[in-house]
Amino acid sequence: MNFYILTLFPDMVAEGLHTSIIGRAAQKGLLSIRCINIRDYTLDKHKKVDDYPYGGGAGMVMQAQPVYDAWRSVVEEIGYQPRTIYLTPQGGVFHQTQAKQFACEKDLILLCGHYEGIDERVLEEIVTDYVSIGDYVLTGGELAAMVMVDAISRMVPGVLTNDESGSTESLEGNLLEYPQYSRPETWNGKKVPAILLSGDHAKVDAWRREQSVLRTAQRRPDLLEKADLTQKEQELVKRVQSENENEV
Ligand code: SAM
Repeated sequence: MNFYILTLFPDMVAEGLHTSIIGRAAQKGLLSIRCINIRDYTLDKHKKVDDYPYGGGAGMVMQAQPVYDAWRSVVEEIGYQPRTIYLTPQGGVFHQTQAKQFACEKDLILLCGHYEGIDERVLEEIVTDYVSIGDYVLTGGELAAMVMVDAISRMVPGVLTNDESGSTESLEGNLLEYPQYSRPETWNGKKVPAILLSGDHAKVDAWRREQSVLRTAQRRPDLLEKADLTQKEQELVKRVQSENENEV
């Protein structure tokens, strides 16, 4: 899968994404992550890419021309117009299902804004998806693009070495993952739950499933509306919820 990140700060993005699992996947050729410096495309002799907003107000606005030409350079290279995501607090909030959907694309362009944002006219021309990474405002789209590239890349086949880890973790089936433990068996006076040492895989699976349901009921009850729960699990959730209400 190929990511093209249009940014004014290519080093920031490249350094953040060329390490660990994502960096390894890029080295193996499973992913390609290219950062395109929007400033390289400005026609301004002082390399300016922003100007004052029409109508007044605080801050500067990224101009349409360099953004459009940077985007156009990618389109001309790959020969078609791929999905183009503008990272913005005005978009729908990014979630795991979307990460999986984007992972099916061959090419994705991610556009990072800065200052007060980008001239609306170029957004109208090139953007297919407006995506936010949460209800807060960042100084630029770079961290948001890195979050998206990381989450999407993990869904690209072969990027995670252990296939399991993508399919059993938090948010799969609208449940949070069960608690995890590693060596030693006792740490700080706390023991690993005995069932995990039993070697009985069926019992371990059943315990983990129950822990997932319990944890989701306690920490993210909103997710349970879409989770596929058995009758017994639904009763467990009701019990936890009424215990929580009694505590309040
Ligand atoms: N004036 C803009 C507004 O009110 O919508 C906010 C501009 S923000 C200071 C600068 C840039 O950061 C945006 O153009 C966008 O690319 C990025 N950004 C800020 N918050 C974000 C978020 N929650 N998710 C994704 N990108 C964000």
